[in-house]
Order: sequence, then C-alpha cells, then structure tokens
Amino acid sequence: MAADTLAGTFDAAVLGAGAAGMLVALAAQARGQRVLLVEPHASAASNFAISGGLFPAAGSRLQAAAGVHDRPEDWLRDLRAFAPEGAVNERIATAVAEALPRVVDFLLDEAGAPVRFLPDTVAPGHRTLRFHSVQPASGAAFAAWFRSAVQARPGIVYTPRRALARRAGEGFELDWADGSPPARARALVLAGGGFGADAAMVARHIPAMAGALHNGSATNDGSTVALGVAWGAALWGMDGYQGQGHTNPGGATRLGMSIPPLGGVLINRDGQRFVREDVGPSALAAHVLAQPGGVALEVFDAAIEAQLGNASAYQAARAADQVLQADTVEDLAAKAGVPAPALRRTLADVAAWAALFADGTQAALHAGDTAGEDARSQAGAAAGKGRDRPEADPLGRERFPRALQPPYRASWVTGALSHTQGGLLTDADGRVLGPDDRPLPGLYANGGCAAGLVARGGEGYLPGNGLAQAFGLGWRVAQALA
Ligand SMILES: Cc1cc2nc3c(=O)[nH]c(=O)nc-3n(C[C@H](O)[C@H](O)[C@H](O)COP(=O)(O)OP(=O)(O)OC[C@H]3O[C@@H](n4cnc5c(N)ncnc54)[C@H](O)[C@@H]3O)c2cc1C
Repeated sequence: MAADTLAGTFDAAVLGAGAAGMLVALAAQARGQRVLLVEPHASAASNFAISGGLFPAAGSRLQAAAGVHDRPEDWLRDLRAFAPEGAVNERIATAVAEALPRVVDFLLDEAGAPVRFLPDTVAPGHRTLRFHSVQPASGAAFAAWFRSAVQARPGIVYTPRRALARRAGEGFELDWADGSPPARARALVLAGGGFGADAAMVARHIPAMAGALHNGSATNDGSTVALGVAWGAALWGMDGYQGQGHTNPGGATRLGMSIPPLGGVLINRDGQRFVREDVGPSALAAHVLAQPGGVALEVFDAAIEAQLGNASAYQAARAADQVLQADTVEDLAAKAGVPAPALRRTLADVAAWAALFADGTQAALHAGDTAGEDARSQAGAAAGKGRDRPEADPLGRERFPRALQPPYRASWVTGALSHTQGGLLTDADGRVLGPDDRPLPGLYANGGCAAGLVARGGEGYLPGNGLAQAFGLGWRVAQALA
C-alpha cells in the first residue's frame, strides 16, 4: 500500500470487510465520504461469504414488482412474534426495517449491484416471500460482488492488513504492523463480526452452545467487540445467537432452511419425529443436538428437491454427497440405518396430517396418479387401518404441505452455532453507547460485533436477521457519518 494513499484524514475508518463493513464503506463513499476499509483476513471467508446471502427487505420495489405486497411493519410484526417476549432490540428494529427497502434502492441505483428478489425462497416465521440476494443466491457470490465493488471505488482505500486502532484527539489513529505511518480518521466503524469462533466467549455468554460445532467463520473472534468494550461500550443481548439445525455433520455443508416449509420432516435415529420442524433453522439446532448422537435425519422427497434448484446451500450439500436417495421407505431406512417400521409409521402420520391440513396435498392424494400411490397407502395405513392416530400433530406442527412420496431424499444433520447476535450496544444510527446510554464520540458499530435484532438464545432468530442488521444498520451508519 503506497503511503500517500493513506495520507490525510479519512472521514471514516472501517474495521472489517464483511457484510457490515462493506455496506458502510460503499454507502458512505456514495455520500462523498473518504473511507479506509481494513481487513486483516482477506484470504479467509467471512461469515458473509459463508452465509446463504439472503436478506429480507419488506416493502422493496423488487418485491412490489413481483406482485408481493409487504411493508416494513409486517416484517417487524414477524420479528416480534418469532422472538421471546421482550427479546427484540427495539433501539434499532424499526430503523432497520425501514432502511432495508432503501438498501435495495441504494444497491440497485447507486452501487450497481445485481440484486434481485427471490420468488421461491420460503422461510419459517416470514408471512410472505421477502428475501433478496444476487445471482446465484449465495453469500459467496454476494460477498465477491461487494469485494470487487469496494476495491473499484476511488473514494475507498481497501487495505488487507491488520491495524491497531487507538483514540487520538477528536478522532482515531491506526497503527500498522509493518511500521508504516499511522492512518488518521475522524470516525471509526467497528465491523469485525461476532464472537462465534472464540470458544471461551461462547461458553461464557451462550453456555447452551458451549462446545457445539461452529460453522461460521474463524475470523469472528470477537476482537472488535473487545475493542469497543475497552473504550467503555456497553453490551446487549450477548446470549442471542443464530443456530443452524440443518448442518451436515462436520459443518462443511448445510441443507438450508427451505425443506421443512416445503414439507420435509426430521427424525432421530429411532425413526421418530421429535420437534415441530417449522420452529426455524436457528431454534432447530438445540433440538437436534438433544437427540441421540446429536444428529437427525432430514427426510423429504424428489418433488421438494425439484424446488431447491436455486438453493445454493442445498446444491452444495448435494454435490458433496450428503443427500441419500431411495425409492422405497425400506430402501431409505436401510441406507440411513434407521428402523424401517418406525420410519414407515412416521411417514404415514405425516401423510395423514398432510391430507387433513393441506388442500393441495388432499388433491394429490385423490388425483389417482401412480406417484400418489405410496402417499395414499401411507395415509390409509395411518387413517383407515385401525391404528390410533391423533387428530393433530402432538409436536404442534400445523402445516404439512405434502405427503412425502417416493423417490425419497434424506440427509443427516446436526446442530451448529453459526453466528452470535450479541454485541456492542448502539443507537438506531449505529453509534456505540456506554452504560449511561451516551454515545462514545466518533465510534460506530454494525453487523456481528454490534447488538443484533434479537437476544436470548437461538429460537428468536428469524431467518435473515443477520444480514438485515448488517445492511440496515450499516445504511444508517453511513447516513450518520456524512
Ligand atoms: C452458515 C451461515 C449462514 C448464514 N446465512 C445467512 C443468511 O442467509 N442470511 C442472513 O441474513 N444471515 C446469514 N448468516 C449471518 C451473516 O453471515 C452475518 O449476519 C453477517 O455476515 C454479519 O456481517 P459482519 O460483517 O458483521 O461479519 P462478517 O461477514 O463475518 O465480516 C467480518 C469481517 O471482519 C473481519 N475482522 C475480524 N476481526 C477484525 C479486526 N479486528 N479488524 C478488522 N477486521 C476484522 C473478518 O475477517 C471479516 O472479514 C449466516 C451465517 C452463517 C455462519
């Protein structure tokens, strides 16, 4: 890095070039700010790059163009309904909700990002289709677009180095390990991600996930959380986290969140269902970990798989040979190593509930097609052959969109910690606050190192909360910096 590119005083220095930092850098630069963007782990994948790359933007113009009526307040209602009582970070929630459609406008009109609405991405807890991403819909593609955009903007100096930031007068100075002269900035934005990779911090703040598989980035080491705390910041919601109950053992791949909403179910090694699968991927993690061996078999069928063509996480799992294929229940039981009678009973119950609850499935059951044969026999086995069958799912699931039919698909999953949600307390503009609620001068935070949208465990994490906060709060930070 030539010393002269670092000369003068930057309007803002941003620590971390993940989702949070790159959004702030681009949006601040678009408002005429000169930005220094510092990334010490440039060759490692950030959580953004590992993520599904899916963000909600209720009320975006892309959604409207696709005929979906949605508003920020509808997303807020879903956010609050999904979270435990009193666990929503109301300091930022409304600001984030209202910012997200503007983030879409900014990305399309000013940043030139190939953002699109995803008409086929269903997600637990969301009343309507409201996810956006790039093509292909993946964090890797989205992060790659951002990385080349921040590197191309003349007003952004991107440096792949570690900086030691310290306060200097009214602003900040950043020292470099190679001894080159320090850089100066009027404001500092902390955007180094959460603390999921710091096992000691996880054990202290989220004991339920101590020792659990972490399928997020090793770069999320809590270092920018610690920096904010050292300067007097308060913390909020440190027990909140994003779990992942659809993670293939080992953590290299995952199935994504769409299989249960499309009709998939989870069974344990005994062939029994153990959870209402529509709790959402985050809450699911703890339920799966509580099963024998800490694993579960996610069971679905080829018709569901056919709807996952754009689901990049699922396609990666499929390519990594994580998905079993079977033509019959017995074949599936043998391949998965679960008891066939239990599996058959479970699928028969699912077929019966699908017939009761889902109009579409009822139609399929009576359509007379050969593909429906197995489903009809399952439903018959459960409903008409004398075995006691509860009228409703004892686990509380209300929607079974379809009776699973051959050919079947299945994949072993476990529970993982993806991303921590607690962090530095901020106001709705991302200003870092002290314990007395007063802003620490010149200091901002967003993304994983800042307090997220929902605290208290993993069950209140509504899919998309991570990028919603990183982008929505990041957009607010950029406006506040100007
Ligand atoms: C498996 C998985 C799937 C996910 N899927 C989704 C999804 O589909 N939708 C969604 O909304 N959210 C999802 N998330 C969450 C989402 O990835 C995060 O909310 C988001 O990436 C947070 O952005 P961030 O910039 O804070 O963190 P990151 O994207 O991780 O970026 C942080 C950056 O800071 C750098 N850094 C670390 N320490 C320092 C330091 N001291 N100084 C400077 N830089 C530093 C890191 O190297 C990294 O590049 C997922 C997460 C995981 C793990």
